[in-house]
Amino acid sequence: MSSPDLDLFVSDLDELYREVIMDHYRRPRNAQELQAPTIKTHGLNPFCGDESSIQLVLDGQGRVAQVGVQGRGCSISQSSSSLMSVLLKGKTVEEVEGLTELFRRMMQGKDLSEPERLSLGEAGVLEGVRRFPVRIKCALLAWMTLLDGLEEYRAKAKHAPE
Ligand code: ZN
Repeated sequence: MSSPDLDLFVSDLDELYREVIMDHYRRPRNAQELQAPTIKTHGLNPFCGDESSIQLVLDGQGRVAQVGVQGRGCSISQSSSSLMSVLLKGKTVEEVEGLTELFRRMMQGKDLSEPERLSLGEAGVLEGVRRFPVRIKCALLAWMTLLDGLEEYRAKAKHAPE
């Protein structure tokens, strides 16, 4: 019997990758919604109907102190969101932007150096998704949503009174 949440596409990935993806899909990390976030953002992938909501609380040093991610949609989009969430704590906004850029480069088919790849942690398993171009947007959704939220935050900070 096939599990209803086991995406046909996911069953075509290497077993190790599949296990990580399905684990994060079934048990998403940092799923609690934060009540007083510094940064709050929401994104949609109309192709697949995937949704992503992200909240970050920054501490006094501008580092990520708390992360909340919620969403709905296919296993790739939701596991990607969870895999991303575990990378963010303790990072500055610049570091988070750097990771997001690395992830995007990886999904767009660029080969990362070993240290770059390591900095993405388990999210590196999503590299296998680039063999399936229609699913790349699913993998990127949470990351691009996060980037939008960071841009909005920067724009606001720039215009805030000193
Ligand atoms: Zn999707």
